[in-house]
Amino acid sequence: MAGTERIRRVAKIVRKQQAAGHEVAVVVSAMAGETDRLVNFCREANALYDPAEYDVVVSSGEQVTSGLLAMTLQSMGCKARSWLGWQMPVHTIEAHSKARIETINAEALMESIAAGEIAVIPGFQGLGGNNRVTTLGRGGSDTSAVAVAAAIKADRCDIYTDVDGVYTTDPRIVAKARKQKAVTYEEMLELASVGAKVLQTRSVGLAMKAGVRLQVLSSFLGEDAIPADELPGTMIVSDDEMNELVESGEMERQHVTGIAHDKNEAKVILTRVPDKPGAVAHIFEPLADASINVDMIIQNVGRDKGETDVTFTVPQTDLARAQALLEDKREEIGFNRIITDSKIAKISVVGVGMKSHAGVASNMFRALSDRGINIQAISTSEIKVSVLIDEDETELAVRVLHTAYGLDASDEAA
Ligand code: ASP
Ligand code: MG
Repeated sequence: MAGTERIRRVAKIVRKQQAAGHEVAVVVSAMAGETDRLVNFCREANALYDPAEYDVVVSSGEQVTSGLLAMTLQSMGCKARSWLGWQMPVHTIEAHSKARIETINAEALMESIAAGEIAVIPGFQGLGGNNRVTTLGRGGSDTSAVAVAAAIKADRCDIYTDVDGVYTTDPRIVAKARKQKAVTYEEMLELASVGAKVLQTRSVGLAMKAGVRLQVLSSFLGEDAIPADELPGTMIVSDDEMNELVESGEMERQHVTGIAHDKNEAKVILTRVPDKPGAVAHIFEPLADASINVDMIIQNVGRDKGETDVTFTVPQTDLARAQALLEDKREEIGFNRIITDSKIAKISVVGVGMKSHAGVASNMFRALSDRGINIQAISTSEIKVSVLIDEDETELAVRVLHTAYGLDASDEAA
């Protein structure tokens, strides 16, 4: 949200939904840029701020928009009220600044909705076991929305964002990227976790678990936009629903659904690690203990003298910490050199179609090598292939792959 004008626009969307006969609960985020501003205040006040007080400060952005939206709805003749995280309440674990929702008590909320009142809920905030305000991590209002939708058994959870749906790839890189009618939860989870920042990853996992039907659509729509009920955005659906869409001809069957890129990882190489049981455990245990997420791992084939090189990636923001931890354990691990590189990018192709179709990975390797793009590491899951390349080649790689998998929009459509 941004400014009271945006809030008025949101209020109009909500009023339209109610007029269409829906009972509506709205989960709001803070105004654009507001959370960043609040985070900066915390840093200025105390570089080593207390996360519990950080939550008090940053949760306020959503409190403001929830009250403003309720007022605006009232000014349009709608019955509306706000429900703060502690009022419902939204119970979370105590982990300040990165809490997880445990349960939502939505009884009073549902009564109020049934009585014709629009419920306006500030996202991102909850109530910890210690009776204090918590927040759910950046982007957490997506997760709030899904959790509320699950708690009130909503027919659908519409997420209004600054993009109008989920695309085959970043439209800023590929002009011929296409908006998808639907993607599966699994695909969305993979896309979210590899850098397609449309939704908070956790919100997708929760929607999948709770069976919440999600739609991603644009919040920048005017009065004459296609109504949300006609599903103008991208639906996130189960495998079964996707099969139905394909069988009914509404969706094409595709092997690859999306191509994502992520420049936020860094590569670490430890050279001449002893090639014996326990060596790899010695490397990754200290990182795990420090909550540093290791993503791709390659252990090269042993060379003579029973030694091997181990390559892996960590988030760029954790690189310095990871390096320091490993230097500390140099003796124990027994490596020779530590080489790091943050000028890398991870490119991922994602699609449930690859479960039943061979050759997706080899097409990727061929398409990249035809353009002289060198692959530094590879990792795969059932529905994803990721490669690590030089960061400077990111845009080229994304474009080449988008074309190679036949994802470019036809010229008339583009
Ligand atoms: N306002 C919070 C943030 O900027 C939560 C959200 O917008 O989803 O991270
Ligand atoms: Mg958001």
